[in-house]
Amino acid sequence: MLQDKNPHRTDIGKLGEFGLIETLTKDIEIKNPSTIKGVGDDAAVLEFKDMETLVSTDLLVEGVHFDLAYFPLKHLGYKAAIVNFSDIYAMNGTPTQLLVALALSNRFPLEAIEEIYEGIKLACRIYNVDLVGGDTTSSRSGLILNPTIVGAVEKEKITYRSGAEPNDLIVVTGDLGAAYMGLLVLQRENETFKANPQHQPDLSPYAYVVERQLKPEARKEIPPLLKELDIQPTAMIDISDGLSSEILHITKQSGVGARIYAEKIPIDPQTVLTADEFHISELTAALNGGEDYELLMTISQKDYEKIQHRKEFAVIGHITEDKGAYLITQDNQKIELKAQGWNALKK
Ligand SMILES: [Mg+2]
Repeated sequence: MLQDKNPHRTDIGKLGEFGLIETLTKDIEIKNPSTIKGVGDDAAVLEFKDMETLVSTDLLVEGVHFDLAYFPLKHLGYKAAIVNFSDIYAMNGTPTQLLVALALSNRFPLEAIEEIYEGIKLACRIYNVDLVGGDTTSSRSGLILNPTIVGAVEKEKITYRSGAEPNDLIVVTGDLGAAYMGLLVLQRENETFKANPQHQPDLSPYAYVVERQLKPEARKEIPPLLKELDIQPTAMIDISDGLSSEILHITKQSGVGARIYAEKIPIDPQTVLTADEFHISELTAALNGGEDYELLMTISQKDYEKIQHRKEFAVIGHITEDKGAYLITQDNQKIELKAQGWNALKK
């Protein structure tokens, strides 16, 4: 229903592989000094002076991670890039080069791949990342996208999941749960559309939550802000699978426990309203929904004053020596956190 309808359909087979690569990469401009050679040889050449190199990859499969019935291709390309950038920010680094491997069936014309690439290139422009390579091949069914991101970080700034210490504060950026509520809205509208193709969805009351699902942003301003505030987080992770699951990654890898307080978790009013409408708790959306691409970190208590008045951050709890991880509700109940994060393998 939200799919862009493109009247032009150019058969990819007519272009050939080299023609396709040429078409997709002709307008790429290199911006990072660490990119010595981008697209156009057998491999890209990168050079990071006095920096550690960060590398991460993600596999996105149609029908498992996204549904093209309500996910426009350009947004898909944008999101695929963003989720990879987010992993580099989670290490307190800067993403610098992206490679994208893509497999798709012949039901997709050239124009469809161009739309995906438009989204990828837009994300690269906004986040100052060079697209330096990739591969395109055919698939028997569906669309598979596999971006690989390269980034850099000063050695002393690298932030792992494993450094949280007892009494550290647990801090999140932005607000949580919106992307999950956006997903539920899009799925509902898609079902309505299937039953009645004349149905014109009015998504305006859900603009924020739908945007958080379809066009998420990664928190690129946070690593430089931490530097400016002179804060070295003790641990950090990005929130892709839900707050619960990410807290458990940090506590497990740091060998500590955690207490987080329900009333401290930042949730947008539109997320609350939408959750009400779907008869679920907004806390469930925040804890288990995922795809927020906010950053979750632990910082030393001595750094509290530096973030106290910054709207980018919310302190939601603290690290404990005993190993359990718990949510403390408003009526003072203690609920053990479980990793119910969205998990493609569990379905
Ligand atoms: Mg991550």
